[in-house]
Amino acid sequence: MSKYKKMKQLIADMRLPEYRYKQLLDAVFLQGIMRFEDMKLLPKTLREKLVEQFGETVVEIKAIHHEKSMQTDKVLFELSDGNRVETVGLFYKEGWNSFCISSQSGCGFGCKFCATGTLGLRRNLTVDEITDQILYFMQQGCSINSISFMGMGEPFANPQVFEALHDLTAPELFGLSQRRITISTIGIVPGIQKLTREYPQVNLAYSLHAPTDRLRETLMPITKTYPLGQVLDTLDQHIRQTNRKVFLAYIMLKDVNDSDRHAEQLTKLLFKHKKYLPLYHLDLIPYNQTTVTETMVPSSHTRIKAFCRIIHNAGISVNIRTQFGSDINAACGQLAGAYRDDQKQGERTMSAIQEQSFEWLLCPVCKSKTRLKIRKDTILDNFPLFCPKCKSEMLICVKQFHISIIKEPDAQTQSRQSVALGCELSALLFFGAGINQSYRLIR
Ligand code: SAH
Ligand code: SF4
Repeated sequence: MSKYKKMKQLIADMRLPEYRYKQLLDAVFLQGIMRFEDMKLLPKTLREKLVEQFGETVVEIKAIHHEKSMQTDKVLFELSDGNRVETVGLFYKEGWNSFCISSQSGCGFGCKFCATGTLGLRRNLTVDEITDQILYFMQQGCSINSISFMGMGEPFANPQVFEALHDLTAPELFGLSQRRITISTIGIVPGIQKLTREYPQVNLAYSLHAPTDRLRETLMPITKTYPLGQVLDTLDQHIRQTNRKVFLAYIMLKDVNDSDRHAEQLTKLLFKHKKYLPLYHLDLIPYNQTTVTETMVPSSHTRIKAFCRIIHNAGISVNIRTQFGSDINAACGQLAGAYRDDQKQGERTMSAIQEQSFEWLLCPVCKSKTRLKIRKDTILDNFPLFCPKCKSEMLICVKQFHISIIKEPDAQTQSRQSVALGCELSALLFFGAGINQSYRLIR
């Protein structure tokens, strides 16, 4: 439940009139007052209760570091349990402000080119931690023109992202139009389907990055679970039902996926979806080198242009995406939730982060690898786990890398429990193939 619902509940519990809730929301979203104490229109008793329950200010996450360049502002936030996430504000000269937000602290999918992927999954963000990233910039006086889930983490691996979409689009809260929001995914099929059903106008970007499953598997292990064909079929359905454009992202990696042959393979792949091709748009993204994915090298501009020409000549909508922010490691895939700060003793540097070990989560029953990489200090609570090897289904708890099984239910019992837990199993599919067959989709 998001904090706004809890605030409404608190006002009802205190038997205060409903308009107090409206006054509270007006203070936050219209007047930009974030400290409860400063909301003088509200009765003192309510202000005190709000402070007691939610702290001094509406924004609960703590900005602990800023890096600014000409048009970008990267903020490192600390969450209540010490985990960290990064958010990037992009300020276009034309007066358009766009915000790149995180959905997870770290990420467990281990894409080979991505700095966030090297961290492993720390944990999913709560709905409030997601929306607070935007509220923080509102507090700084920024207007919010668009938001993309292209920061740390995989949005469809975190069920709370749908709650966040609710709050971000609710007229009485952030009030953004669905069309101002973009979700970028590595292709979690049930997540895409849920978005089609519930938020059909939200923009969808698929991180494609390779023209064949074989190559993509080497870069993005998720391909084993959701191969290209299955994801593109799902995107076809999305286009059919929403009539919305779908963006395909393709990062250009020297000698990996950038040859003429790769461009031809890509054309062939997309032509298999000819019926919907007019609504696909391909973005070629110059690869941003990171200190933690050094083995990958960006393609030259000449190569990118040659690649682009082949795709363009085949009649596919394509362009080369210009990015800013790479000078402060704020561009796509460069977010790693760490920073160097010589003044602050004890803070972790990037290299220290790298030295910290992270490991594949092992199935507690058969000890085989699941497809999730976690750091030793990851905390997972009531997490539904399906082992692709021994097919066990269970709820687990992970603390300091100690894994305990809470329950070993059958699929049906687990579904019911998950409803009680508010989990959307459909979005927790990164453990491996088969989970979507084993669990009923719950809504
Ligand atoms: N997990 C989601 C969203 C976050 S990443 C996803 O992967 O789609 C946002 C985008 O940055 C994705 O398209 C991702 O593939 C891309 N990306 C990751 N690392 C990158 C890098 N080093 N250079 C350029 N783009 C990168
Ligand atoms: Fe995670 Fe996306 Fe990075 Fe892959 S590219 S590791 S899914 S954040």
